[in-house]
Amino acid sequence: MDCLFCSIINGTIPSTKVYEDDNCYAFRDINPQAPVHCLVVPKTHIESLDSVTDENSATVAKVLVAIPKIAKLLGLSDGYRVISNVGENGCQSVHHLHFHILGGEKLAERMC
Ligand code: 5GP
Ligand code: ZN
Repeated sequence: MDCLFCSIINGTIPSTKVYEDDNCYAFRDINPQAPVHCLVVPKTHIESLDSVTDENSATVAKVLVAIPKIAKLLGLSDGYRVISNVGENGCQSVHHLHFHILGGEKLAERMC
């Protein structure tokens, strides 16, 4: 399967790693939308939040458990925003589930 984030996870495409464990990988977004912009992905290919099932929900839950650890590593002690774009109207451009962690400044109150 041709998936950009699977290629980043397996190292075929380089990335700036922030955090890694058995279940997930976190790396800097190539086109940051905030002073700190990191992407967190499960190591297994799940298309989006729209594809979460009883079978893969434990994997997704472990990604969520990693997010506050990653935020701490990134120094986001004053808060941050987590976004997951889903599908066409959600403007998802990479079809491997990912959570954007955005922070490093006071973010816009309006989310879109
Ligand atoms: P989406 O639009 O699907 O929610 O988010 C995809 C994100 O992946 C975008 O913020 C985009 O900048 C980032 N991105 C796309 N290609 C690459 C890449 O090759 N490396 C990294 N680090 N980020 C990428
Ligand atoms: Zn993938």
